Amino acid sequence: MTDASWGLDTLALRTGQRRTAEREHAEPIFTTSSYVFESAAHAAECFANETGEHNIYSRFTNPTVRCFEERLAALEGGDRAVATSSGMAAILSVCLAFLQQGDEVVCSRSVFGSTVGLFNRLIGKFGITTRFVELADLNAWEAACNERTRLFFVETPSNPLCELADLAALSTLARSKGVRLVVDNCFCTPALQKPLALGADIVVHSATKYLDGQGRMVGGAVVGNHKDMAEVFGVVRTAGPCMSPFNAWVFLKGLETLRLRMDAHSANALQLATWLQQQPGVARVHYAGLPDHPQYELAKRQMRAFGGVLSFEMAGGRDAAWKVIDATRMLSITANLGDAKTTITHPATTTHARVAPEARLAAGITDGLVRVAVGLEDIQDIQADLARGLAL
Ligand SMILES: *Cc1c(COP(=O)(O)O)cnc(C)c1O
Repeated sequence: MTDASWGLDTLALRTGQRRTAEREHAEPIFTTSSYVFESAAHAAECFANETGEHNIYSRFTNPTVRCFEERLAALEGGDRAVATSSGMAAILSVCLAFLQQGDEVVCSRSVFGSTVGLFNRLIGKFGITTRFVELADLNAWEAACNERTRLFFVETPSNPLCELADLAALSTLARSKGVRLVVDNCFCTPALQKPLALGADIVVHSATKYLDGQGRMVGGAVVGNHKDMAEVFGVVRTAGPCMSPFNAWVFLKGLETLRLRMDAHSANALQLATWLQQQPGVARVHYAGLPDHPQYELAKRQMRAFGGVLSFEMAGGRDAAWKVIDATRMLSITANLGDAKTTITHPATTTHARVAPEARLAAGITDGLVRVAVGLEDIQDIQADLARGLAL
């Protein structure tokens, strides 16, 4: 059962579960590739209905995956979610559902690296043009639009510099142009930010990050209204980037603690950002929860808390940044994020290494920049591990 009046935590724990005759308490994992029909007529009836209401084959639907979809849709405040094999598969499915040859996309410059590659190299091959703009410059979004524009694509806050797009303003512009606004809500999750309530049409997720929250699985999802999700479901059903039932079960367990974890990530990150501002050698800290962040007021309006990712710039450039990273003993040196364990990375030589040096600098990714995806360890232990390299 699901009750529309439930709060976020209750929705995260209870939505979508249907107990079987076995009376199990936890959600079962349906490891079956197909389903049996009561009769030839029943099979015909199920095949004739393409909405995904009836189980036919697990590329189309699976009860464990459906439970995850219903839960995530409820959390985001969307009619329906479609689960995918990864976050990139979610974005690809949106492209396949809503774009055709000759169409155009306007995309924030500050999006996940593979998202840039997908729009430029892969979708570009099929005669679709993507124009990249500054995420916070509304005039640039408007100027990049023309009668061929079909999608706006944005990620907020941005990685690794924590810049924000004003989702309410961007959705108003999208609506006036007859364009769908797609928001990658991976960094906030619905526990901190609800893009659909702010006017976005579609939310995409890499469930790999905070929805799982413990670095175990790769997965993704698309959330939106019934009509749009019927299109996305049609893509996943036919093209096949579907989520496995076991992964869906792990994500269901992750969702149960989503708000608690996001609040704890945010509290640790805010403490760490404030502490870093006082440390020797740190020239600047990027985190939307700091009152001196240029978009602090927007952040307070748009997000319930400020998330787990921050970055800081070492005055001593690349050498100083690498010293901080190499002096850690507990933090994990990895480009991944959204894990209960804190991770640290040097964007200029890892996640953004393939961006041309001038473009990288123009985007604010300096050689002294260090990104931390703040985990759930005790804050004093995270600080102590970073302090070792800051003192060098
Ligand atoms: C990781 C990530 C993706 C891609 O997700 P995968 O699950 O790795 O395919 C997309 N967007 C953002 C913001 C991400 O961090």
